Amino acid sequence: MSTVPTPPAAASATTRPPHVRAAGDEPDVSMSSVDPRLMDGRLVAAAIHEETTARAAAHARRTGTRPCLAAVLIGDDPASVTYVAMKQRRCASAGIDSRLVPLPATTSTAEAVAAVRALSEDDAVHGILVQHPVPAQVDERAVFEAIAPAKDVDGVTLTSFAAMAMGQPSFTSCTPAGIIRLLDTYRVGLAGLHAVVIGRSPILGKPVSMLLLGRDATVTTCHSHTRDLPSIVRSADLVVAAVGRPRFVRGEWLRPGAVVIDAGYNPGNVGDVAFDEAVERARLITPVPGGVGPTTIAMLLEQTVTAAEALAPR
Ligand code: NAP
Repeated sequence: MSTVPTPPAAASATTRPPHVRAAGDEPDVSMSSVDPRLMDGRLVAAAIHEETTARAAAHARRTGTRPCLAAVLIGDDPASVTYVAMKQRRCASAGIDSRLVPLPATTSTAEAVAAVRALSEDDAVHGILVQHPVPAQVDERAVFEAIAPAKDVDGVTLTSFAAMAMGQPSFTSCTPAGIIRLLDTYRVGLAGLHAVVIGRSPILGKPVSMLLLGRDATVTTCHSHTRDLPSIVRSADLVVAAVGRPRFVRGEWLRPGAVVIDAGYNPGNVGDVAFDEAVERARLITPVPGGVGPTTIAMLLEQTVTAAEALAPR
């Protein structure tokens, strides 16, 4: 059994769990196995995984079939191959079937779209993941849009994004969903906080900004054209770094007592935040590795089971 309590099962990334306390409350130190300032993504992911495994087993008992996640891997980028293999292993340990659809690096957009459409129409598949990034000749947006919204467990379609942004039930991009789950688990009350998100990518910065806005934070989204970023960060109660540059956010930029989420993952297991500096100022901070990363896959599996449950005949 994990020691981290999960938020109530009904609490999606866009709803407001009743247990969330006001900003400024002391973190519950039992959440962290090492240092009360650390937000332990591995523990949070383990709790999500445990709940997902139980739901997958209940689904299999009820319907006679296990939830199934299909992964489309275009080309042989080593990092993508590793990520997909990792996701398949996690599926297996949760009682979720996985199907790999490998396509050659020379695949055209039309071929990739056809492969994804076939999965969208396959009743045995409940969730579809198109591993990002795809080769340059492939129109990634067109391939994403071939995913049936009911199977969009990675939250990449326009339909999912719009529903998430409007606060409707939706599949949510997994890293942002994991970030919100981390914040909820560590009782960070989001209403009224000034949240500064650095990065505006479609899979990370933009959706996490919308989710925080939906939870009544006051959100500033920064990007490569933002002027005087350090002074904006200095006014933040919550900083989400999603830049893709190692040790980009410096400790001296942070207001003492800020909550810091480092979504970055750069070569050498280095985040986007200078951790050694930031940990001296932060009230709560995610380490890299072991912070945001583990929760991303956990959310993918959770959403796959949710899709299977919703698609199953009543
Ligand atoms: P991305 O698509 O390259 O986006 C980077 C964002 O950072 C862009 O919006 C860019 O602004 C902004 N940026 C770049 N330089 C900047 C600067 N000097 N000042 C302010 N903003 C700047 O990257 P991503 O896919 O969002 O990923 C971001 C990081 O998260 C990477 O380290 C990635 O490895 C990591 N990540 C982790 C997970 C996980 O599961 N843990 C999942 C996905 C990504 P413009 O829009 O103006 O170019």
